[in-house]
Amino acid sequence: MLDNQKVKDLLRGDCDIYAWHSQRAWIEVNGSALSNNVKQLHKLLSPQTKLMAVVKADAYGHGANFVASVALEAGASWLGVATVPEGIQLRESGIVDSPILILGATHTSEQIRAIIEWNLQPTICTSQQALIFSTTLEILGISLPIPVHIKLDTGMSRLGAKWEEAAEFVQLVKSLPKLKVASIYSHLATSDSQDTIIMKQQQARFEAAITQLRIFGITSPCSHLANSAAMMGDSSLHYDMVRVGLAIYGLYPAPHLRNTVSLLPVMQLKARVTQVKTITASTGVSYNHTFIASHTMRIAVIGIGYADGIPRSLSNKIQVLIRGQKISQIGSITMDQMMLDVSSIPDIQVGEIVTLLGKDGQVEISAYEWADELNTISWEILCGFKHRLPRVVIM
Ligand SMILES: *Cc1c(COP(=O)(O)O)cnc(C)c1O
Repeated sequence: MLDNQKVKDLLRGDCDIYAWHSQRAWIEVNGSALSNNVKQLHKLLSPQTKLMAVVKADAYGHGANFVASVALEAGASWLGVATVPEGIQLRESGIVDSPILILGATHTSEQIRAIIEWNLQPTICTSQQALIFSTTLEILGISLPIPVHIKLDTGMSRLGAKWEEAAEFVQLVKSLPKLKVASIYSHLATSDSQDTIIMKQQQARFEAAITQLRIFGITSPCSHLANSAAMMGDSSLHYDMVRVGLAIYGLYPAPHLRNTVSLLPVMQLKARVTQVKTITASTGVSYNHTFIASHTMRIAVIGIGYADGIPRSLSNKIQVLIRGQKISQIGSITMDQMMLDVSSIPDIQVGEIVTLLGKDGQVEISAYEWADELNTISWEILCGFKHRLPRVVIM
């Protein structure tokens, strides 16, 4: 378990944990839930399969330094980020030894220099990129070869070399003296769907590429394919490592995967009541009066808005939790504030805590509900919260 000093160190530069009681709005990051999720997911793996905690996009909005250190303590052995600066941030936070894979593309000499300096591991997708790396490492006078990860496109049509050309591509990378192939991987396009046809086709292509390599005498030290949905849905996709994002944050990639493992949501979103008032019938609320009171109402203002990452298109559509009750949001959500219909709690006080996402008593509001309302996915909801909201660790 993390002690308070460590929690404070992890939050350095983000917010002082002892000052969060005075905040108007904040995100609570539950360290025990996170640790539970990583441990539960780890149990689905065979002993040889490694778990990479995907902590890109500031750990899906949860705070990458904290999440990475808890995930490593709970059994993850790799970290995945999207960009070089995300990797540097983890190294600066004191994660010295754990391998960090950059899932995005890197090309420039500045990026390559930083990869060396901070001991990060790049993804290689094209021969041109492999040659740039090799030449740059030569110029930098790097003597030992650096580990690189070969990405194959097996059907996502995003980053990666064509799977049919895997053998030529890997042979080229292996022929470059400064590069050492550390893994071969690919990414699935439809793993959260119950229809597995395309996923199975991608898996067959991935295996065909690996067989082709073997014919050329190349054995990959590590193969990996699965994201959260794939690792939860089909153990034949585990190979040597799984790359898990959403599930460690306690959300299920799809409803049909709910019975595989028991996950706890890590993030809760909270704000405080900043003013309470009574309005009479026919009074309009907020910009453009998209809500008009039909009777005398008690309303509360809370200090959180779209500049904190609450989508404005949720205006008049969501409920929040106060004293274990569901309360409707009314009127347009504004940049820094929004209003609630608190007629059912007439004695509500300024300073009371409102839960926008999370649990209060027996009731819970989850990111899935917002995602459904917005016709998007829960991943986007988690990543959408801005840094104006302090991340507060609770254990
Ligand atoms: C983001 C990402 C993951 C994690 O996906 P989840 O669905 O959140 O588990 C895995 N692999 C790659 C290449 C990614 O970009």
